[in-house]
Amino acid sequence: MWNDLRSFLKLLEDRNELAVIKDEVDTNCDISAGLAKTCRIGGPALKFVKVKGYRTPVVGGIYATESRVLSVLGTSKQNMLTDFLRGIENEIPPQIVSKGACQEIVREGQEVDLTSLPILIHAPEDGGPYISSGVVMAKDPEYGRNLSIHRCMLKGRNKLGIAIDASRHLEMYRRRAEERGESMGIALVIGMDPVIPIASQTVPAGGIHGDELSVAGGLRGSPVELVRCRTVDAEVPATAEVVIEGEIPPSITEPEGPFGESSGYYGKGTDSPIIKVKAITMREDAIYHVIHHGRPPNETQNLRSTSLDASFYRYIRQVCPTVRNVHFTLGGITQHHVVISMKPTYKEEAKNVMLAAYGSRLDVKNVVVVDDDIDIYDPVQVEWAIATRAQPYADTYIFPTVAGGPVDPSANESGVVSGMAIDATRPFGEPFAKTLELPEPRYDIPGDKK
Ligand code: MN
Repeated sequence: MWNDLRSFLKLLEDRNELAVIKDEVDTNCDISAGLAKTCRIGGPALKFVKVKGYRTPVVGGIYATESRVLSVLGTSKQNMLTDFLRGIENEIPPQIVSKGACQEIVREGQEVDLTSLPILIHAPEDGGPYISSGVVMAKDPEYGRNLSIHRCMLKGRNKLGIAIDASRHLEMYRRRAEERGESMGIALVIGMDPVIPIASQTVPAGGIHGDELSVAGGLRGSPVELVRCRTVDAEVPATAEVVIEGEIPPSITEPEGPFGESSGYYGKGTDSPIIKVKAITMREDAIYHVIHHGRPPNETQNLRSTSLDASFYRYIRQVCPTVRNVHFTLGGITQHHVVISMKPTYKEEAKNVMLAAYGSRLDVKNVVVVDDDIDIYDPVQVEWAIATRAQPYADTYIFPTVAGGPVDPSANESGVVSGMAIDATRPFGEPFAKTLELPEPRYDIPGDKK
């Protein structure tokens, strides 16, 4: 077991899943090009030890393959959903300790200099260097702690821009602080136990009251140890690599963006809040961790996949217990397309399930509902169900407008999209052609991976 980034990297190294790149690289698209490639080929995590102009090494590609995400979670593809649900349903609250390695080096006030960190330009037309892997840890007097990941643009030695979508919990926290006329203290944490960024993508049982760090504890099976920040009211994982402490002042926005998003398109420039940085703390020999967004396949999708499936599954099972499995597909950028399998028990139940999908507030755009004999992880089987079990005039519903397409370039100015839902289950209670089945062969076939 590990409780920080570097011990997880050690484990990857032992498994030959960490490649050390000794060539000199620069921070302008040079590193991100390598990360894009390792995502495409399902390659190793990459550690860049010679970054032009910086002493800090850069590591990325931890989440470049699904199998590495499964090892972070200590599970397998078959057990992924049940193991993940067990983890998030057995939250373990974090523990505060008095001292942490993340504060071995402290830079405060005039000493703060974000430009000393190897913050990358990820894509050629990005508006500037961006922190892509920082987990924002914030608190609200009523709602408690929140963890989330946002694109943060470098704007100077002690200033960042932060884009926060309107529907995110952090935006609700920020607006409430703004209504009180207060700055909101936050910590932006870079490089930690790789389960924590995954947990940051879940919807805890408590909804907005839930603490994603307790979810991380549940997934780890032990509490995350935290230390208090030095200049803001926030706590951060004691073994984090780099911590940026700062505050988001009320009523200030500045131009931010564009940024090459995980959709594979540039997200437009926005007017966004800023973070005034008050301190940077880090470990000795800190490692700068990056997460590759950019055109799919990317790390963001793998990072989100299990969290999203599990969060959505828990929600939809409450209203539709006949749902068997759910999956946000890779082609739908692990965000906008969900496939649901179920065993209908009454006529048109699948229609109610697809309507419920839009109630999840999880940026659902298109929905396909299939019977439980379909392997929803296999796009060919899903398409087969659409081709052979659905008639578009009766089984396709179009929702002219639904909220939620933050990274969909076809969404309108306000992020509004239209939705399409396909009921590809066999008509309930009516005779339907029988599927053809054969038993497993009694003999081995060479090349069968089982
Ligand atoms: Mn939250």
